[in-house]
Amino acid sequence: MAKTALITGASQGIGACIAVTLASEGFNVAINCRGERELENGGIQTAEACRAHGVEAECFLCDVSDFAACGEMVKAVKERFGSLDVLVNNAGITRDGLLARMKEEDFDAVTNVNYKSVFNMMRHASGVMIRQKSGRIINISSVAGIYGNAGQMNYSAAKAGIIGMTKTAAKELGSRGITVNAVAPGFVRTPMTDVLDEKYKEAIIERIALKRFGEPQDIANAVAFFASDKASYVTGQVLEVSGCMSM
Ligand code: NAP
Repeated sequence: MAKTALITGASQGIGACIAVTLASEGFNVAINCRGERELENGGIQTAEACRAHGVEAECFLCDVSDFAACGEMVKAVKERFGSLDVLVNNAGITRDGLLARMKEEDFDAVTNVNYKSVFNMMRHASGVMIRQKSGRIINISSVAGIYGNAGQMNYSAAKAGIIGMTKTAAKELGSRGITVNAVAPGFVRTPMTDVLDEKYKEAIIERIALKRFGEPQDIANAVAFFASDKASYVTGQVLEVSGCMSM
C-alpha cells in the first residue's frame, strides 16, 4: 500500500515542490491549504501535478495555527488515505521589522503560524504514528533560526523553537519508530523572497558560497531524503540547505 505524506502550506513555493517531489517518490499526498483562496491559487494545480505521477492527491483546508482544526485535518487525512506516514511542517509567513518597532500582533502572527502550528500538527499526527508504530516528521526551520537575522526577531524565534521541538520530539518518539528531523533553508526563490528588494538580494548572494539563491527543489530533495528508507537511522538532526551562507 502506498504511504501517505501530509504537507502543510503546500499551495505554492517550497511546500508545493515538496508535495510533487514526494508524489514522484510514490507517496500519496495530502496538500494543506489555508483557505479557499489558496486552494484556487495553487492547491488545485499542486494536486494535479502530484496525480501526474500516478499517485492519489487531495487538498485539505486548514489554518495550521488553529489547534482544533489541525486535529480535524489529521483525522480527515487518515480517513481518506488509511495512514499518515510522513508529516512535513512547511507553512510559514514573515512580518519583518526591527525589534524596536515590531508590533506585538506581528510577533504573535509569525510565531503562531510558523511555530505553534508545528506543535499543533506534531501533537495530533504523533498519535496516529504511535498507533502505526512508524512515521517521519520533517519540520522546515531556517538559517534565521540557527544564526539569527536582523529584522526577523519573530521569525528567528519561531524557527529556533522548531529546532528545539524537533530534537525533543525525536527523543520522545524514537522508541515508537518515528523519526523527527528539520531542514533549515537559506534564501530560496519563492513568493516569500520574490518581494525582497533587488539590492538586498544581491547583497545576500555575496554572502552565499555557492553564489545563488536556492531553488524549492533543493529543499524538497532534502525532505525526500528524510522521508526515505535511506534515512531510517537519522533522527533529531537539522540539515542546513543554504549553499553555505554566512549570516
Ligand atoms: P511561501 O511561498 O510564502 O509559502 C508559504 C506557504 O504557507 C503558502 O502556501 C501559504 O499559503 C502557507 N501558509 C501561510 N499561512 C498558513 C496557515 N496559517 N495555514 C496553512 N498554510 C499557511 O513561502 P516559502 O518560501 O515556500 O516557505 C515555505 C517554508 O520554508 C516556510 O516555513 C518558510 O519559513 C521556510 N523558509 C523559506 C525560505 C525562503 O527563502 N523562501 C528560507 C528559509 C525557510 P498562503 O500564502 O497562500 O496563505
